[in-house]
Amino acid sequence: MTKLTDEVKKRRTFAIISHPDAGKTTITEQMLLFGGVIRSAGTVKARKSGHYATSDWMAIEKKRGISVTSSVMQFEYQGKRINILDTPGHQDFSEDTYRTLMAVDAAVMVIDSAKGIEPQTKKLFKVVKKRGIPIFTFMNKLDRDGREPLDLIAELEDLLGIEGVAMNWPIGMGKQLKGLYDIANNRVELYRKDEDDRYLPLDENGKLSEDEALAQDSLYQSTLDDIDLLKEAGNTFDKDKILRGNQTPVFFGSALTNFGVETFLDSFVNLAPAPQEHVVNEDEKLAADDPEFSGFVFKIQANMNPNHRDRIAFVRIGSGEFKKGIDVTLARTGKPVRLNNATEFMSSERVQVSDAVAGDIVGLYDTGNFQIGDSIYAGKKKIVYPELPQFTPEIFMRVTAKNVMKQKSFHKGMNQLVQEGAIQLYRGYSTDDYILGAVGQLQFEVFSFRMKNEYNSEVELHTLGNRVARWINPDQLDPKMSSSRNLLVKDRDGEPLFLFENAFAERWFKDKYPDVELTSRL
Ligand code: GDP
Repeated sequence: MTKLTDEVKKRRTFAIISHPDAGKTTITEQMLLFGGVIRSAGTVKARKSGHYATSDWMAIEKKRGISVTSSVMQFEYQGKRINILDTPGHQDFSEDTYRTLMAVDAAVMVIDSAKGIEPQTKKLFKVVKKRGIPIFTFMNKLDRDGREPLDLIAELEDLLGIEGVAMNWPIGMGKQLKGLYDIANNRVELYRKDEDDRYLPLDENGKLSEDEALAQDSLYQSTLDDIDLLKEAGNTFDKDKILRGNQTPVFFGSALTNFGVETFLDSFVNLAPAPQEHVVNEDEKLAADDPEFSGFVFKIQANMNPNHRDRIAFVRIGSGEFKKGIDVTLARTGKPVRLNNATEFMSSERVQVSDAVAGDIVGLYDTGNFQIGDSIYAGKKKIVYPELPQFTPEIFMRVTAKNVMKQKSFHKGMNQLVQEGAIQLYRGYSTDDYILGAVGQLQFEVFSFRMKNEYNSEVELHTLGNRVARWINPDQLDPKMSSSRNLLVKDRDGEPLFLFENAFAERWFKDKYPDVELTSRL
């Protein structure tokens, strides 16, 4: 086994999916504490952008120095190199989240045990499920009264269609929380105890002999009853199913009181897969420990540090090893690029990359070379990673520069923010007007804020409202088909599409032009 293979095997790269408020930030913070990245709780919270009001979000984003280091968090834990990819919590930023999920090898799903599966979790789960990667579930907030654990497990199957397999089981909850019956490790983990005597072993018959009082406790007895029930009627642990994303191991705990998080992290590190082979060039398999470096851009962020007008392209390494100054080819243009200026995300400081391999993320300082979804490769053989999904915007605005004398900064800002994937740009088919499309309203607010603050360009936005975007076969296009109710525009590849005022307008169009093919994207 070569050194590269060894290194790749150590990588664990994942994202956390959850509904706002389920506890993603809190559990991330606990993991960083275990990884020795931060020394006290509250560090991550301070920069959280999850569910702030728009103005707060912007104020936080202005301090980009903090937020960037946290969009990828890397640390060593038990001889493994962990990469946590952060995803914006606000649902208006779901586009960014979806793309980040394309760059991970596993997902952790955090559920509020009082609320069960909430809408945002369900949406993100679907994306992860489609990728077929393993999903680990953490049922959070056990220190509060929540729903019956058996219900929570059943809901996984009912609402998400995934088998849940309990790795541990609560002994009481809320004020009565006593601990966890740790099925996987054959021990009891006591709640609120010192590190040393937190764990009580179970004997070979599964009996708890070291704490008579607890063993006699009715809550403990009812936990045993549940466990008997699980043994009889529950799902059995199946590693293959887990790795294919057809079964999720379920852990209970409380992120806030740091209870059950370590047990969760330990099991995760053991069970979660190292970077796997990727399908590239449509149907070829590329091993993660292939010696030639390759990767893809899944996120671009500009002006992260207001003092240096920089732009970082986040690259997920798919194969090989990244070395500073490496020469690569950009698959989209065939042009060579030398990657001199890169950063990795070890600890809380940005440091120059030293030993990034498949599974890791590197940030490339970019002067406008890269777009989201770009593939880069170092070898002679061209490597193209699958396209990242583009989500069809639902809200549209026409945009103009307030000050016509400032066209240059307007175009510059616009280009950069579009390349960053912050918003999607369309042009009027014959007018070349700028039309912006977004999945959520907040994206427009952030867009105009950043145009003004980062590019000194004030913009005017004129709403076109909610629209249904449908692409049309260019051969069938007649510009006369366009009206205010079905606006004809072109996307960034020059492909024509109609923005229908509503479903009714679309139906009307279909009746009038029955032979014209209309297609939707994701
Ligand atoms: P996020 O929106 O998913 O990142 O959620 P946060 O981590 O910010 O948590 C949302 C709220 O729930 C915060 O007030 C946390 O302090 C609280 N919280 C998180 N984990 C727990 C937990 O285990 N128990 C309790 N009682 N509260 C928690």
